[in-house]
Parts: sequence; structure tokens; C-alpha cells
Amino acid sequence: MNPFKFISATDSNAAIAAHHQNSRAAFLAGGTNLMDLMKEHVALPEAVIDLGRIGLKEIKETAKVVSLGALASNTFTANHSLVRKYFPLLSKAILAGASAQIRNMATNGGNLLQRTRCSYFYDISMPCNKRKPGSGCAAMEGFNRMHAIFGWSDHCVAVYPSDMAIALSAMDARIKVSSDGSQREIEMKDFHLLPGTHPEKDNSLSSGELITSIELPKNSFGKHWAYVKVRDRNSYAFALVSVAVGLQINNNIIESAKIAMGGVAHKPWRALKAEAFLKGKSATTANFIKAAAMEMAAAKPLSHNQFKIEMSKKTLVSAMEVALKG
Ligand SMILES: Cc1cc2nc3c(=O)[nH]c(=O)nc-3n(C[C@H](O)[C@H](O)[C@H](O)COP(=O)(O)OP(=O)(O)OC[C@H]3O[C@@H](n4cnc5c(N)ncnc54)[C@H](O)[C@@H]3O)c2cc1C
Ligand code: SF4
Repeated sequence: MNPFKFISATDSNAAIAAHHQNSRAAFLAGGTNLMDLMKEHVALPEAVIDLGRIGLKEIKETAKVVSLGALASNTFTANHSLVRKYFPLLSKAILAGASAQIRNMATNGGNLLQRTRCSYFYDISMPCNKRKPGSGCAAMEGFNRMHAIFGWSDHCVAVYPSDMAIALSAMDARIKVSSDGSQREIEMKDFHLLPGTHPEKDNSLSSGELITSIELPKNSFGKHWAYVKVRDRNSYAFALVSVAVGLQINNNIIESAKIAMGGVAHKPWRALKAEAFLKGKSATTANFIKAAAMEMAAAKPLSHNQFKIEMSKKTLVSAMEVALKG
């Protein structure tokens, strides 16, 4: 690990100010991703700003919104009565990730910002445009079984690994961020980026912006929801494909469908074609199969992940069936 300066911030303004003093600083939340990246020499911050004492751990509600503190742990969030009451989809997705020990340390903000698990990204002897812009993409011609089938570019074919964020995407969450006295909210659909020509940039945060909370509209899928994750092992494994679904159903007619997929793209992938097809249709397996086929028609597999297309179709249908049963 490279030497770095350790700063323990006492509140969010102090954390932001410390970051502004050093553009090569990194915020430290639970550390479950950042510390691994530092140990592997993938992240080389000159200063590490510990967020452990700044608060932002509360989960609270207003009439229309539930707000999740950025520093609340994944375990606390998944088990919180407000989350269980209004957003069981989110609880299920969080609990499908990592292990109990990791979820106890991991925070909501850190979860959103975890970096890809592409093995070439972690191996500093290999070319990787995300780690070292301009060096190439070892996965493109290498072993790319876990990689993207939507939205990839010639510069990067990595997928985004979070389970929690797939549910947040289906739920139209907004991310509240703060920097230098100003605040803004970023819609979940605009928060993570496709790789394009700049895969080194995972998301739309500016340097030194601090996530303060995640805002969830109470819309929302109390009854017809599902999170289905397909993976190589039952725990400690990232998704090959995952699907978060929320359906509003009235007299067996789908009034609205919100569907997001994980393990298939560089960001949570909203299945917009499937959503548009399902609106106004009856909630039947036949329509679920058609919607899944429509969504997957545009997928572009790589040399080792053709299987993800059929797997995605089946996972989409199965998630919609689970959601329908309620
Ligand atoms: C063995 C293993 C298995 C795992 N399996 C899964 C899995 O199946 N599914 C899954 O979803 N995840 C999985 N994870 C990932 C885990 O969920 C993440 O490591 C965790 O959520 C990151 O949260 P953290 O608080 O520890 O972040 P940290 O490691 O502290 O930070 C991560 C990044 O976020 C930045 N950051 C943190 N908080 C803020 C903030 N408030 N504002 C701005 N920047 C911030 C940091 O600077 C850093 O860049 C796994 C991890 C491990 C080690
Ligand atoms: S897929 Fe992306 S993260 Fe993986 S080697 Fe290529 S550029 Fe790096």
C-alpha cells in the first residue's frame, strides 16, 4: 500500500473542505471496496478522509419520501422498519449482496460507488482503460464471461456490480450530493454512466462531491415486486444477471412496470422497451415472455457471454412472475 495522509473529518463540511485541498484524496466510508483497491495498488489516494464520525446515518420519512443516510450501513438499511414497510424490494436486493459481515461495514453511499469487479481492472500488470486511460482493454479479447451485453464500448466492457443500486434504479431513487456549500440531486438514471470513451469515469459526481443521502419516492411496489439474482454461488458472488421489478397492477392490467437489470451493463440497465410494452397489457406469462424478448433483442454479447441473453430472458420472466404473485 502506498503512504497516504489520514484525515478524520468531524462533519460533512470538513470532509468536503479536506477533499478540496487535495484533488487526489478519497473519502473512506466502510472501506470494504476502497481498502481492497488500495492494497492492490489500483487506487492510490494521497489522502484518505474518514467519514465515520460525520453522521448521515439516519433513515427518516416525510409525506412523500423516505431518505436513507449515505453513511447508514447496508445491514441497518435493509432491516429498517421504513425500508421493510415501503421498499421490501430494496431490502431483498441489499440482502442478496456480499455477506453479513461485509454488509455490516458497507454503507449506502459506498455501495453506490463501488467499482467494477472486472479482474483485469484489479490486475495492474494488465491493460485497462478504466484504471489507466489509453492503455487498452484486456477483457475485450480476454475472458469476458462476467462482462456486459448492453451499452459497452470499444474502450470498456465492464459491468457495474451493486445489487442495491439495481433496486434503486427500478425505484427511481434520487441521489443527494453536497459540495462546497451547494447541494444538488441526481436522478438515479443519470448517476452512473456508460463507458463511452471515458470508462475511467463511473458516475456523474464531480471531484470532492459527497453523497449525503438517497431519496426514495413512496410510489411504490409494496405488493408486486421481486429481486431475482442469478450467480455462480449462493453467497459472496456478484450477479451474472439480476432483475428488479415493480409492477402496479389493477384488475390484472399492468398500469406501470419498472424493471432494472444488473450484471449486463456498466450501469443499472433500465429495461425501457419491456416497460413500454407491458404498460396497459394484462399481467400474463405470455406478455412477460414477449416483453423479455423485446428487451433482449438489442443485446450484443462478447465472445464468452452469449449465455447471458437466454439467462436474462428467463430471469426477467421469472422476476415478473414472482412480482405478479405478490
Ligand atoms: C468479498 C466481497 C463480496 C461482495 N459481494 C457483493 C455483492 O454480491 N453485491 C454487491 O452489491 N456488493 C458486493 N460487494 C461490495 C460491497 O457491497 C461494497 O464493497 C460496499 O457496498 C462498499 O461500501 P463501503 O461503505 O465499504 O465503501 P468504501 O469502500 O468505503 O468506498 C467505496 C467508494 O465510495 C466512495 N465513497 C464512500 N462513501 C462516499 C460518500 N458518502 N460520498 C462520496 N464518496 C463516497 C469512496 O471514496 C470509494 O471510492 C462485495 C464486496 C466484497 C469485498
Ligand atoms: S472491461 Fe473495462 S475494467 Fe475491464 S479491462 Fe476493459 S477497460 Fe478495464
